Amino acid sequence: MLLIKNGRVMDPASGLDGFRDILVNNGRIVKIGFCGTLDDMATEALSYLSMTIIGDETGRPDTEGSLRIDEIDAGGMIVAPGLVDAHVHFRDPGFTEKEDIMTGAEAAKKGGFTSVVMMGNTNPPLDNAETIRYALRKGEKTGIRVFSCANITKKMAGKELTDMEALLKEGVVLFTDDGKPITDESLMRTACNEAAKLGKVLSLHEEDPSFISENGINAGTVAEALGIKGSCRDAEIAMVKRDIKIAEETGAGITIQHISTKEAVDMIREARKTCTGIHAEATPHHFTLTDSAVAEFGAMAKMNPPLRKESDRLAIIEGLADGTIETIATDHAPHTKEEKSREITKAPSGIIGLETSLGLGIRELVHKGYMDLMTLLSRMSCQPADIYDLMALVPDNEIGNSDKTVYNELPVGRIYEGGPADFVIFKEEETWKAENFASKASNTPFTGQELPGKIHFTICGGNIVYQG
Ligand SMILES: [Zn+2]
Repeated sequence: MLLIKNGRVMDPASGLDGFRDILVNNGRIVKIGFCGTLDDMATEALSYLSMTIIGDETGRPDTEGSLRIDEIDAGGMIVAPGLVDAHVHFRDPGFTEKEDIMTGAEAAKKGGFTSVVMMGNTNPPLDNAETIRYALRKGEKTGIRVFSCANITKKMAGKELTDMEALLKEGVVLFTDDGKPITDESLMRTACNEAAKLGKVLSLHEEDPSFISENGINAGTVAEALGIKGSCRDAEIAMVKRDIKIAEETGAGITIQHISTKEAVDMIREARKTCTGIHAEATPHHFTLTDSAVAEFGAMAKMNPPLRKESDRLAIIEGLADGTIETIATDHAPHTKEEKSREITKAPSGIIGLETSLGLGIRELVHKGYMDLMTLLSRMSCQPADIYDLMALVPDNEIGNSDKTVYNELPVGRIYEGGPADFVIFKEEETWKAENFASKASNTPFTGQELPGKIHFTICGGNIVYQG
């Protein structure tokens, strides 16, 4: 049993913003009450539980935690829903020298995330039931909620669709060939028809390779200084335009991943006036940096799509503020030191992001006055959870008993009585230094920076999975 006391509870889904105590037992929120009102209830519940457990002959080691009241004094802290990231690369199976599901989850916990969706550019890729089962079973051991995508096309080759219906039965939450754009328009249309039929969202990497000379660096003066042409903004604009049209015509839900251009933001804003199934996500690096970071940080600022101009960065922030872009996703992309120290055209694209996402969101979006903290939290919790229908398995009774417990599927990304006890508890103004990452990798240009929003606890299913 856990009593979280005196915190400022902020839940974007319900709009609750006030000082409350929260009583948690057996993985779920039992009661949310005004400060100081739940102590008696906790004591009563404990004596009831003690009687019930003593009266049961089976003996249940997993009930131990229920037989005492742990307290967290969250005075001066914000208690928000455990954060949700619908776009992470845990590199497992196949590239575990960069990251694996266990270390990726440790990075998530340190960053306040309790629900993540793994991308499928693994080896083998997540285009088959066996690999998806492997990833999901391993995810179950992490202490947080690790969801999986399935690929749209076999081997992510863009030639032939996977059996999306069969893979959906494995419990995947979205379909994507992230990293690999689907250039074949008729195949994209077929995928959209299938996604519409299944009621699942396609999450799309929108960079037409025919426009790209070298990926990861915006075509412009910075690329020119490196003696390369780079990746031109039309690569994104052309594909976003095409896929909005296909989504409108087929009724499929789509997400434009890691949006990078002003034009794409404008197209999404216009499309969403009539088609609410069209979504977009933005990364912390695209709302924080421009391509001038490439000159400063080299390969640490190389990503797909690339960092672009200040007008693009500001358009992404405007889109996040007005709800055109509903979600922040990190695109957490670990690489080894050796890979990122290669010369810039040979180094792989992408940076880690789970541990710095909340801090960058507070620093760049809230403290600079573009949005309030509640809006930022909504982009990082209930909104991604809702787009992909992310559900937690929550026991329906008060006593942990693996034989008898019935589990209910309940939405994550929000704080409500009966719901999953997933929280991030942090101090908005307290700063911390981005270093000593829990991720296996450390490829980020934000190393060494002081960021606000120090996380004190990450709690998933009522368990403290990270304490800062
Ligand atoms: Zn990605």
